[in-house]
Amino acid sequence: MHSDFVSHVRAQAATYGEERSYTYHREVGRELVEEVLTYRQLDQDARAIASWLSTRPEAHRPVMLLYVDGIDFLRAFLGCLYAGVVAVPAPVPHDARSMARVATMFEDADVGLVLTTSAIEELLTAWIGNSGLTGTVAVASTDAAELGDPDEWQMPELDGDTLALLQYTSGSTSEPKGVMVTHGNLLHNAAAMVEAMSAAIRDGDAGSVVGWLPHFHDMGLIGMLLLPLYAGSNLAFMSPMTFLKRPVRWLQLIDRYRADITVGPNFAYDLLARRIPDDQLTGLDLSSVRVALNGAEPIRPRTLEAVLDRLRPYGFRADAFFPAYGMAEVTLLATAGAVGSPPVYLDVDPAALERNELTPMAGGTRLVSSGRAFGVDIRVVDPDTTDELPEGRVGELWIRGGSVTAGYWNRPEDTEEKFHATTLGGDGPFLRTGDLGASVGREIFVTGRLKDLLIVNGRNLYPQDIEEAVRELHPALTGSAGVVFSMDTGRHERLLVIHEVKTGLLDQGQENDTVTITDLARKIKLSVARAFDVPAPSVVLVDRHGVHRTTSGKVQRRSMRASFLENRVDAVLHEEIDPAVQG
Ligand code: ATP
Ligand code: MG
Repeated sequence: MHSDFVSHVRAQAATYGEERSYTYHREVGRELVEEVLTYRQLDQDARAIASWLSTRPEAHRPVMLLYVDGIDFLRAFLGCLYAGVVAVPAPVPHDARSMARVATMFEDADVGLVLTTSAIEELLTAWIGNSGLTGTVAVASTDAAELGDPDEWQMPELDGDTLALLQYTSGSTSEPKGVMVTHGNLLHNAAAMVEAMSAAIRDGDAGSVVGWLPHFHDMGLIGMLLLPLYAGSNLAFMSPMTFLKRPVRWLQLIDRYRADITVGPNFAYDLLARRIPDDQLTGLDLSSVRVALNGAEPIRPRTLEAVLDRLRPYGFRADAFFPAYGMAEVTLLATAGAVGSPPVYLDVDPAALERNELTPMAGGTRLVSSGRAFGVDIRVVDPDTTDELPEGRVGELWIRGGSVTAGYWNRPEDTEEKFHATTLGGDGPFLRTGDLGASVGREIFVTGRLKDLLIVNGRNLYPQDIEEAVRELHPALTGSAGVVFSMDTGRHERLLVIHEVKTGLLDQGQENDTVTITDLARKIKLSVARAFDVPAPSVVLVDRHGVHRTTSGKVQRRSMRASFLENRVDAVLHEEIDPAVQG
């Protein structure tokens, strides 16, 4: 057992040197070009970057990593760890919104040095110069010919408490916060993941992981990039853009590398079910997959059904689905399903669910379990009284254990409030996740986020359920994003739906007649009112990309609400609340 991540990686490189490798599929023009890095090369590159970093005085402060391609990022990330430098993974900015986001992270983390590749170094230098950031910030490329000498690298003093990285949260509900992840956290969580997947990652057996997730979010960094190295597996991967342009590429990698394990959020599985034409699927063999991890956002039973319908003929099995729940604050994984068993479903009474109770009912609302806890202790707690709740009652999920991170960087009050909670019974300290859920036996059902919960006439409604129902109403809405939130109109809470609309598909409805955009807005209103038994919501339809999303693809309800209240939503159509349909 090692106490720091670097010693573990070095041991893996010593054991598997040339035998195990990472293969990156880089998009060059319309082609994918493979780049293979063995464990030995990864270790050598990390030492080269680390010995160079140790000569840079700016690296005493956190170092931001801005990379387009995951393989370049990984070298630099390991280089930081090998140098005892705090790494700050971040997305390369591409527009005003993303630039503002990175600039905020920049100042928040007190970054002194940015690492990147020579292809975008000039661009980033110009941007940083123009952005009015205070302090001096240097930019350097890690693909430059002359870096450090790997043989001159010296192991820094590291232990379990040494800070390894600042993982910024996705920013779904608020400004992204820098989570302080230690070497001990990385080791603890990786061990929990291996335990959860032990039937699929056999010790000493190569195993193959396939993915395309962004390397600057927790699931991509830890679940995709670091897990194989930790466990001694091979990884084949590509960038999110490469996947999004042609979703079948994910399946092609699975087929080609006989993947045992792959990871993605629910929306990506939706793409697999809906976006790949038949002819692209012909001949694929997906039967090797033993873990298709689905996490990072609510898992939709309908998505799982749709994926099975679509991919079963190509060998994909129901027991491959591997639901998981976690967050940056617990390094990554907190709960996971069981290898070799299909997901556990529970059909519950919707009316009871609105009162925070899970009451089994045939034909009721279908929930899917996120599995059981690995490496952590999870409690369900009443968020108001902080009293622990019994099985079957929905409350806030509280977590403790070695994967729980050291808190938020530079935010002592938030850290105190979120990471050091005590139950009414005096048990603690726990992390307050801000997520709602319930336990049934050992299974944890995550129902949604406390901050996004809609309270209408004393009933608790989950926005993602209404959003899913709206998406299914018409092809002009399917496959686009929408948000639902509530507004206080002075007299009572009202719901508002903001949804993207593909106006080119308005003629694709079931009845085959063209609907107008006004018809569509009415349809949304009436359907939501009827299906959820709520007063008809206001509806705002916007163009493609009109709904804010995080760089991990999650909708940002609070940010949309704020924009709406400030009159900054560019509406294609705004249907006011119509007294005639209020019922
Ligand atoms: P921010 O904290 O900045 O608002 P975020 O919470 O989306 O953003 P992450 O740490 O990337 O940032 O995501 C973790 C969150 O994702 C969890 O707290 C939870 O709300 C959601 N999530 C993860 N897994 C699941 C799951 N299996 N079911 C439902 N929700 C999930
Ligand atoms: Mg969060």
